[in-house]
Amino acid sequence: MSNHPKTCAATRKDGQRCTAIASKGDYCWFHDPLVSEERDAARVRGGQNKATAVRVDRLLPETLRASITYTVRAMARVSAGTMKPDQGAAIASLGSSLVRQYEAGVRLEQLASIEDLIVSRDTDDPDEPSTSRAPAAEEDDHGIA
Ligand SMILES: [Zn+2]
Repeated sequence: MSNHPKTCAATRKDGQRCTAIASKGDYCWFHDPLVSEERDAARVRGGQNKATAVRVDRLLPETLRASITYTVRAMARVSAGTMKPDQGAAIASLGSSLVRQYEAGVRLEQLASIEDLIVSRDTDDPDEPSTSRAPAAEEDDHGIA
């Protein structure tokens, strides 16, 4: 036997022989039929992680995405010594302020949604039995304390 590492016995989609080093048997990790389950699971995990990242990206408003990018760059520059720590601290502080303002906006939006929901419940048909009403125990609390 030669001392050269054995190459994969598989043929690629383009018709060329796979040039990857064979792992245990005759095939590389990508072509080994015995590890197909492990490979499929890894592919699914990779897909899920990417999908989550895409979802998070979509949920973040453009301004926050830009702020995150800017903050990460500042962190790297402070770390590398190409930006003064004071400048980095100022950027971090402004970024935090931006996030707090955004959170306040989101909370106001959520509050408005809840108010809309309450108004729409109150104007529901009173003859229709509703499961969304407050529990009976709380109905005694209408008096002024
Ligand atoms: Zn291969």
